Amino acid sequence: MHIDIQKTTESRIGQTDFDNIVFGHVFADHMFIVDYEDSQWKNPRIKPYGPLTLNPALSALHYGQSIFEGMKAFKRSDGHILLFRPEENWNRLNKSAVRICMPTIPKDIFMDGLKSWLALDSDWVPSIGDHSLYIRPFMYATDDYLGVKPSSKYSFIIYGCPVNAYYSEPLRIKIEDYYVRAVTGGVGYAKTAGNYAAAMYASHLAQKMGYHQSLWTDAFEHKYLEELGTSNFFALIRDTLITPQLSETILKGITRDSVIQLAKDLGIKVEERLFAVSELLMANKKGMLKEAFATGTAATVAPIEHLHYKGEDIRLNVEGDTLANILKKKLDSIKRGYTLDTHGWVVPV
Ligand SMILES: *Cc1c(COP(=O)(O)O)cnc(C)c1O
Repeated sequence: MHIDIQKTTESRIGQTDFDNIVFGHVFADHMFIVDYEDSQWKNPRIKPYGPLTLNPALSALHYGQSIFEGMKAFKRSDGHILLFRPEENWNRLNKSAVRICMPTIPKDIFMDGLKSWLALDSDWVPSIGDHSLYIRPFMYATDDYLGVKPSSKYSFIIYGCPVNAYYSEPLRIKIEDYYVRAVTGGVGYAKTAGNYAAAMYASHLAQKMGYHQSLWTDAFEHKYLEELGTSNFFALIRDTLITPQLSETILKGITRDSVIQLAKDLGIKVEERLFAVSELLMANKKGMLKEAFATGTAATVAPIEHLHYKGEDIRLNVEGDTLANILKKKLDSIKRGYTLDTHGWVVPV
């Protein structure tokens, strides 16, 4: 695949303070773009990161055909850039695409675009501490047409932000008992922009009450725990790690899958199954609930110190050699190339 490359003449890297980065505000110099038209992907190119030209009738803006991925690149001590399970992101992007009537993207376009762009912006991959380059591949509908139908034209873009840790403190979480993120038959398992829009109001209310995030429950009875809307949920009850089983209403997190594998490697029993709110509350009352944490690419493994449900509060230990901290360290060290990657997850670029 030939990619047309237009390099920036005004790199912003000199003005970037990598030690004091706020998540998602600073962008690497370039972006990769490819367009879909006449049933084909066309004109792959890399150009300076910057504004796009949009028509007011752009169908993504009105009817929401827009999907995305989130992944990270790390710089190993020898300067090599490492990606973590990028094929999984490509795979999931295409599952999301199918669900909302968008075209799938061939693997070579996704991977070659990603790698060529990373080669150009490699200086933007930080090597310090908790830092990494957060990568945002996304696809949106570009028809300039007001009628309701799947668009015939799309753009796929990859850009990136150097980032620090997403959460700087342990999480306080409100278990949601009224609002709904996803329902059976819906699009909860797809990484669509619309899922985020639909979740914002309840999360905003939870944030006004002092919580970081909502923990969603099932749409029919609010009886079973699902996920946090940007990350998946785990709890350690006695010596068993429990996470809600995958379904149409839960996003299949790549971090979730990796954490399950790493916990099993440690000899820990892992259960993926229906997980009732009442079970969590009961385990806490009996002193059997040891930990809870969230997993996602941006958040990595984020310990939860406080869970709230209808006037009941659960306080959890997040300090020391908790399972969450052990898993976070293990995962980080694999991603950064410090620990031998026995699962074939890390892809050097
Ligand atoms: C992206 C996302 C996650 C986390 O997935 P990872 O692949 O681990 O980053 C979890 N839940 C939702 C709703 C998401 O959009």
